Amino acid sequence: MSSRGGAITAEGERLPPHPHELKYLAIDPPRAGEAQRIADGVSWLRIPLPMELNHINVWLLDDGDAWMLVDTGMAEEVCRDAWLALEERVLGGRGLARIFITHDHPDHLGLSPWLAERHGAAVWMSEYAHRSASEFLAADPVAVGARMREFMRTHGVDVSDAPALGRGNHRRWFDGIPPLAASPQDGDIIDAGQGRWRVVETAGHCRGHLCLHDAERRLLISGDQVLPSISPNVSVISSRPLADPLQEFLASLARLGECDADTLVLPSHGRPFRGLHRRLAELAGHHEQQLAALRQFCSEPRTAFEALPTMFRRVPQGFHRMLAMGEAVAHLNCLCGRGELRRLQDGPGIVRFVVSDG
Ligand SMILES: [Zn+2]
Repeated sequence: MSSRGGAITAEGERLPPHPHELKYLAIDPPRAGEAQRIADGVSWLRIPLPMELNHINVWLLDDGDAWMLVDTGMAEEVCRDAWLALEERVLGGRGLARIFITHDHPDHLGLSPWLAERHGAAVWMSEYAHRSASEFLAADPVAVGARMREFMRTHGVDVSDAPALGRGNHRRWFDGIPPLAASPQDGDIIDAGQGRWRVVETAGHCRGHLCLHDAERRLLISGDQVLPSISPNVSVISSRPLADPLQEFLASLARLGECDADTLVLPSHGRPFRGLHRRLAELAGHHEQQLAALRQFCSEPRTAFEALPTMFRRVPQGFHRMLAMGEAVAHLNCLCGRGELRRLQDGPGIVRFVVSDG
């Protein structure tokens, strides 16, 4: 998330649209309680979200005499209402047999316990996603808030008058974590939606993120790893302060480049599009530009907080500032991983980054 151009969303930066570069599928997004056909056995549904990023796309695949659903929406009333309408008008009396979760963020996973219970569906997600969501819900919010506050402080944010940085809001969007019926791994094949889908595990937006690729029909269910108009959030989080998710993200983009250039990308937000290779290059190029700017800015020792204006036109406030800090540290850690910056830590524990001597 940063602010070149459009509004800042919780998911990431809103880049200017590139209609001339990406070729959007020439159908409108499905309306409430309706589905749009993507391919034989594959339909596009849209679930509203009560936030700035106001929808998530979910995918309904034929699964024998039932359905396989990819992602669910949040544990919010507006999402449940959308599902009640879809059950009546789209599911046609067939239940959900499987729910496949791309990753453990609340808009993808949040409603899975409710839907699984209603339909007796088996929930599939990566083992990592299941463990990390379970740990998140089990964690003491006060302790998590304190850890986040300390993370912000060491990276130069004045937290003396900041309100508690708890994650209560996020907790609300989950409805518990359903038991895991299967944990697909990279390379596994899933038969559904009249096709064969290979599981492609990616990282960077979050670990244990699973895409589904039908090579024969050139379809890619990309989750949040590749989105057409926003740059997926890539953040260091306080529980893994030295992680390098940006390098993982860039490596995952490179892997997806192995998909055919004419692949139809089915993203979790925005519209289905063709132009995967161009979009992968844009996303990678955007991060490389930010890395170059930060490398230059850190000719003197700088904190991540001081670096925010280098990355964001307006320094975001509140929750968005927290996301922005996570992104800034991700870029700075990446430069350290590449040996281009060094990390300095002084007495009170303030972390600064400075260009490496060589
Ligand atoms: Zn996500």
